[in-house]
Amino acid sequence: MKTAASTIAALFLVLFVLTTFVPYPAARESAQAVDFSAEQIDRGLQYTFERRFFFWGATALHLALLCVLAMTGAGRWLADRFLEWTGERRILAALGVGMVYVAAHELLWMPIGIARLYHAQSWGMSNLGLVDWLRDHAISLAVNSAWEAVIVSGLYTLMIALPRTWWLVAPIAGTGLGVAYAFLAPIVINPLFNDFTPLSQTEWRQLQPRVQKLIGKAGVEVEEILVMNASRQSNHSNAYFTGFGSTRRIVLYDNLLKKHSDAEVESILAHELGHWQHDHIVKGIMLAAFAAFLGFFLLDRILWFAVERPPWNLQSPADPAGLPLIVLLIFMGSWAVKPAENCVSRYFERQADQASLDLASEPDAFINAEKKLAADNIANVAPTPWNVWIFATHPPTVERIQMAKDWKEKQTKKE
Ligand SMILES: [Zn+2]
Repeated sequence: MKTAASTIAALFLVLFVLTTFVPYPAARESAQAVDFSAEQIDRGLQYTFERRFFFWGATALHLALLCVLAMTGAGRWLADRFLEWTGERRILAALGVGMVYVAAHELLWMPIGIARLYHAQSWGMSNLGLVDWLRDHAISLAVNSAWEAVIVSGLYTLMIALPRTWWLVAPIAGTGLGVAYAFLAPIVINPLFNDFTPLSQTEWRQLQPRVQKLIGKAGVEVEEILVMNASRQSNHSNAYFTGFGSTRRIVLYDNLLKKHSDAEVESILAHELGHWQHDHIVKGIMLAAFAAFLGFFLLDRILWFAVERPPWNLQSPADPAGLPLIVLLIFMGSWAVKPAENCVSRYFERQADQASLDLASEPDAFINAEKKLAADNIANVAPTPWNVWIFATHPPTVERIQMAKDWKEKQTKKE
């Protein structure tokens, strides 16, 4: 067990050093080649460098907690206490073990979360005071815990009812839950933190005709375009496409509308419509379902391995003492698939960028929007390739700008 834990620790240490300290000067040069000032490049590099310590600190604490709970006898001991108190009710005992894990994680993470808030404030990126931040955090903790309780109860119900075939049914049930979440999040969860107003009822309503024209051109049925008061939390500029079925919508941050010209907003909106045209939410859910089949199959094998073997001494895969091991395996699994997952995400983003250029036909506005977004968000415009491979959900800004330049060149050749 000790070798397994130290291998995991060594692996994460290598990743931390590689992604935090190993420089890549060529990235800086390509950022300068698309007219980013040395000052802006350095500012982005410094801000991301400092923020990495919060991220890796939180990752290290989380991993240490999971290793203690899952790789020592702690999980067994905890589960036995809860089994005793609940009269051997396994689902309730699993929920008890889960609650201890969530509470311990919360205690460990909280100082890092508060330090990160003050750090963001010092860079002028956060508009939340400590009290409002704590309020937001408490709400999201409550929502996430409730959702996780549904997942844990469902998983243990399946494992108890179908000891041999649960892993075949779980991905289907999980996909159903994923769809339900995608459907409900924009109408139930997001409004807990922000106000969402239809674009036509905001001070930016003059954009509405242009927006309508663009949507008509894209040939998609948009339920709603909403403006979110993102300035409540921070100065980040963004836009996103969310929801499922009748709750599908495009959300624009108020920060974005305040700082960008109509043509730039149009170019960003066209990118979101591109996600829509390509059905990226449905494709994402389908890919996740496929990964879930593989993941649950492996989980079943490993849980059987832990039956009657120390330090877990599980009586069956449905033994609540296995919950910390399940969470550790999900944690490791999500890191293992991160590069592939983000590679798919970057592919989707490139498709949406292409669609944006084809729809709005405004490469200059596209380039300006990219530059402003990078400045507003103190983005790192010179990331190292390995950071991109592991973490980047979007192609680097420089690459996106180059794409618009190439598109423009192709157009002039056509003419
Ligand atoms: Zn996108």
